[in-house]
Amino acid sequence: MKKLLTTILLTITITSYAQQSGLKSRFEKHITTLASDEFGGRVPQTKGDTLTVEYIVGQLKNIEGVELMGNNGLQEITVKSERIRTLYTPKGNGKFTKTNMLPATLQTFNTVARVKATKENNPKGESIIIGAHYDHMGYQKNKRGDITLVRGADDNASGVAFVIEYAREMAALKHLLKRDVIFICFSAEEIGMLGSNYYANNPLAPLDKVVAMINFDMTGRMMRKGITIRGLASCKEAPAIFSTLANPNQLDLIWEFRAKGPTDYKSFYAKGVPAFSFSTRIHKDYHTDRDVVDKINYEGMIMLFNYAQNAIGRFAFEQTTLTFNNSEH
Ligand SMILES: [Zn+2]
Repeated sequence: MKKLLTTILLTITITSYAQQSGLKSRFEKHITTLASDEFGGRVPQTKGDTLTVEYIVGQLKNIEGVELMGNNGLQEITVKSERIRTLYTPKGNGKFTKTNMLPATLQTFNTVARVKATKENNPKGESIIIGAHYDHMGYQKNKRGDITLVRGADDNASGVAFVIEYAREMAALKHLLKRDVIFICFSAEEIGMLGSNYYANNPLAPLDKVVAMINFDMTGRMMRKGITIRGLASCKEAPAIFSTLANPNQLDLIWEFRAKGPTDYKSFYAKGVPAFSFSTRIHKDYHTDRDVVDKINYEGMIMLFNYAQNAIGRFAFEQTTLTFNNSEH
């Protein structure tokens, strides 16, 4: 009975938004694809990297109302990796070629798209950014000394799935937008937030018109309804806004006021943009070959998706004043 009630409540929440029927199966499709063998753990400047950005752009361009930015949805980027990285490339029969990569310049991509508000609704041409990193770690040596695929189903195929599905939502609700919404999937987060840093320094739409950045990193492993929201202190009005958000599923919220924790919102915070990051909590499979599709909690993803969409709505459907605050002071 409890389960039935939960199902009914969940259904009401879901259907209160346009386009959400089938959300679970779309999340499943995105994560299963992005975390597959073929995508090789989404390491920058590999075949898996190219397949990943093709998949993301392929999804976005099929959504009516979404406009691809950059070069057909891609921002080609050159980033400098400062670390020595060890790459293992499968050569069949369970054998691998090992390459030690010295600090080097990498060619990779961010994906960038937008849903625009009308000029009448958005006379100042303001925008918000919704982002998530798509890269992960690829083949790695585990504690037992075996080389296995670190797929990043939670980290961060789950966040990419959010970006694609928010693009679908915002396109469906385009008539309500009072600000443009820009959707970015970043490369090279795992080697130092290089993709988001590149975008923040080379934006495809003016950064001084971006009133907020909302990041999703690891949204797929909800436990006991727990979520973490970071960066509230980066914006003067944020505590008041977030404290009045509807929470129909009674998620257990942990607030981290300072914009800390290494993920892409910090690249925007560093440029004076109010920036927030949502995630489910850290787990023991983090950065291991156990971060797999089978462990994704899709019901939890939907609950977080709906909760965070209320926050996005407050930034995108109203011309809410959002004032940057340096949270270190
Ligand atoms: Zn991550």
